[in-house]
Amino acid sequence: MDKWVYEFGDGRAEGSAEMRNLLGGKGANLAEMSSLGLPVPPGFTVTTEVCTYYYDNDKSFPALLTEQVETALATIAQLSGRRFGDDDNPLLMSVRSGARSSMPGMMDTVLNLGLNDKSVETIADQSGDARFAYDSYRRFIQMYSDVVMGLDHHAFEDILESFKHRAGYVLDTDLTADDWKNIVVEYKKLVENELETPFPQDPQDQLWGGIGAVFQSWMAPRAITYRAINNIPANWGTAVNVQSMVFGNMGEDSATGVAFTRNPSTGEKALYGEFLINAQGEDVVAGIRTPQNLTEAARIEAGSDEPSLEAKMPEAFAEFSKICDQLEAHYSDMQDLEFTIQEGKLWMLQTRSGKRTTKAALKIATDLAAEGLISKEEAVLRIDPAALDQLLHPTIDPAAKRNVIAKGLPASPGAASGEIVFTSEEAQDAKAQGRSVVLVRVETSPEDIHGMHAAEGILTARGGMTSHAAVVARGMGKPCVSGASGIRIDLRNETLSVGDKTYQRGDIITVDGTSGQVLEGEIAMLQPELSEDFATLMQWADAARTMAVRTNAETPADARMALSFGAEGIGLCRTEHMFFDGDRIMAMREMILAEDAAGRRAALDKLLPMQTADFTDLFDIMRGKPVTIRLLDPPLHEFLPQSESDMEDVAKALNLSIDKVRQRTRTLHEFNPMLGHRGCRLAVSYPEIADMQARAIFEAAVEAAQKTGAPVTPEIMVPLVSVKPEFDLIKGRIDAVAALVMKERDVEIKYQVGTMVELPRAALQAHRIAETAEFFSFGTNDLTQTTFGISRDDAASFLGPYAAQGLIEQDPFVSLDQDGVGELVRMGAERGRATRADIKLGICGEHGGDPASIIFCQSVGLDYVSCSPYRVPIARLAAAQAALMHRK
Ligand code: PEP
Ligand code: MG
Repeated sequence: MDKWVYEFGDGRAEGSAEMRNLLGGKGANLAEMSSLGLPVPPGFTVTTEVCTYYYDNDKSFPALLTEQVETALATIAQLSGRRFGDDDNPLLMSVRSGARSSMPGMMDTVLNLGLNDKSVETIADQSGDARFAYDSYRRFIQMYSDVVMGLDHHAFEDILESFKHRAGYVLDTDLTADDWKNIVVEYKKLVENELETPFPQDPQDQLWGGIGAVFQSWMAPRAITYRAINNIPANWGTAVNVQSMVFGNMGEDSATGVAFTRNPSTGEKALYGEFLINAQGEDVVAGIRTPQNLTEAARIEAGSDEPSLEAKMPEAFAEFSKICDQLEAHYSDMQDLEFTIQEGKLWMLQTRSGKRTTKAALKIATDLAAEGLISKEEAVLRIDPAALDQLLHPTIDPAAKRNVIAKGLPASPGAASGEIVFTSEEAQDAKAQGRSVVLVRVETSPEDIHGMHAAEGILTARGGMTSHAAVVARGMGKPCVSGASGIRIDLRNETLSVGDKTYQRGDIITVDGTSGQVLEGEIAMLQPELSEDFATLMQWADAARTMAVRTNAETPADARMALSFGAEGIGLCRTEHMFFDGDRIMAMREMILAEDAAGRRAALDKLLPMQTADFTDLFDIMRGKPVTIRLLDPPLHEFLPQSESDMEDVAKALNLSIDKVRQRTRTLHEFNPMLGHRGCRLAVSYPEIADMQARAIFEAAVEAAQKTGAPVTPEIMVPLVSVKPEFDLIKGRIDAVAALVMKERDVEIKYQVGTMVELPRAALQAHRIAETAEFFSFGTNDLTQTTFGISRDDAASFLGPYAAQGLIEQDPFVSLDQDGVGELVRMGAERGRATRADIKLGICGEHGGDPASIIFCQSVGLDYVSCSPYRVPIARLAAAQAALMHRK
């Protein structure tokens, strides 16, 4: 026999917490609470399978459903001594939705079912409170007509408002029993006039109308949207919970409330919540009356004169507080509860795991582990790694009002306010004067590093999640919104406009790099704070993980920051970022503009001591931890001046003609620079650049080892390799320089030469390349770009509609495309290992800091992930979860 209905109540239940898929979250927990012997009003759950049946069968119900519902109603009658549909001894019911995964406020609820013209009189008599009876009836007519019959609730509210106006009332509580009676007459008239059918008087009709309405609401547009956003499949369906009503509005010894077993903002172990005397649940939510505190402690802290539940109803409070402890221990988690007290008797209406802030989540997880309710591993699994971002950057106060003026990509998390500036020079000047600025650019280039550094936040009109602005801002831990394509930047007039609004240079805006929003004015922020719970949980995470976590860093500040966040080495030092500061850019330009190898060498000689000092610093800071340094990667024109006046400056400084500078810039122009003369191709054309960098690395290794006493084993990485011979050529040069330095310095230097795997051909040929490459680092930014054939800098302008139409699940530059790009990573790892069993494998694309991608890296068996400094804690936690999941 098909079972469609599961009963609960009176210390028993046919369902349990494990049956969430069938009974929905609310139904499964009501059953569980009932089995635990807690006071749950008796009722039954119509399963999610009925919802699926309903939609598969032209919105009809399965054959045996009516019979099973009647049986369940008979059980409730037995337990309560009242009968649903018996006007002389009525039982009122509530009908509520309850999906597998909570969809707050998305679906419909009907309370007080079973009321009609007769039963309302009986209830008035039996309760001795006609006002209560008619108040309940008017609530029911409005709710049912709205939810089931589709009559907008505003029409009812208009009637009530004009009634109050005529009678000179202010509050709903001013209305008498007779007033509500009159309102009920008007409400019923409205239904009849508007819908040409009387308000249903038969409780059976009301019940089936209510059940049907809950199923209908599963396909309401707002529910469909919510499911799309939260990845909830439509075929899960919702269950319907039908439960006998208990009344918190039956006088001064009745109440209704909500509670969390621990504080959901701080995680503190203290009962937290509020209640209202003589009220129904909707009144607490509606905010018409100010709810009171549950405990005396909370009342005193809030400075409230209204009595707490603890003081007002000590017995019911004591029982409730005991149940809270019991449920928390039973579910091993903080619970979010709803309860009602009817004439002094406590009833439990709901329990579920409570939503909480990240700060609270950390405290609750570590406390629960310390209390022995969960293991340390379970505590590690309970925290969402991405949510740690909330702790590491200032964030917009959730209570603050947001005036959103534009939206872009959430390129680098955190939020910052400042004056609009349009150039890096201005940003630097303003910073020097102690002003806060947001740097607004169409897109940024390596020349903007100093401006980005000076600015509090960055906003670009173009560029995706791996654009220059995004990568550099993440590295610096600065909030950045990139690709805000709705903004227009007018550099000549120094304005930023969105639609018909225009902002001037100096106007204050806020960028929220966590949501991608750009907001008008300055907004209240919450400052980051790292608690002891954070440190404890990270310690447990480190004990659980098997992959190492390194960082992408090239400046001493970034390297130190990453170390303080727990980085275990540098996985990617992008050396090009080191050539933009002060004198270096001139020496770099001199090298690029040189006529021949001799001219280049002369310029490189100037760069050598600077590079050596940079690397010595990094090795020194990292104290023997592994450091992977990548040879120069970007196309050379990125280093050349763009504007005419910059070109003139360069010409003057280098004693060249302006024509020469222009001509060289033109020669270096490429149609597709990302697929052009960059990566190891530069070292093939200009081997002296690689020679200089290799020498700087080896000399620095010697210096740092002498200084700190810790041996340094540099890892030198060749970018953008596609064929083995190009790697071998460059490795040959590096080995030669190594031999030379060792001879000159008369020391032994251990080092490794490896490659980035960031082109599909390198992944396909990994077994060959591994014959000579000693490590691989998957550069999944370029690998994504070249596998999809999508430019990483232009993707933002067209990937939006792809995501909106469900053509892609996620931006592949944010979370690794496991089916496509991931296959190449897996193949590269397997083929590399087949040749060289102990080859070291890592990832240094932006995906190295993305939790879902990190889980994938664990499945491929990578040795480490490398990410920007601020993502190191996220990666440590995600790697721990990946290891724990892999173990299961
Ligand atoms: C990559 O391509 O994934 C990478 C790390 O290199 P970059 O982002 O510097 O091109
Ligand atoms: Mg790359």
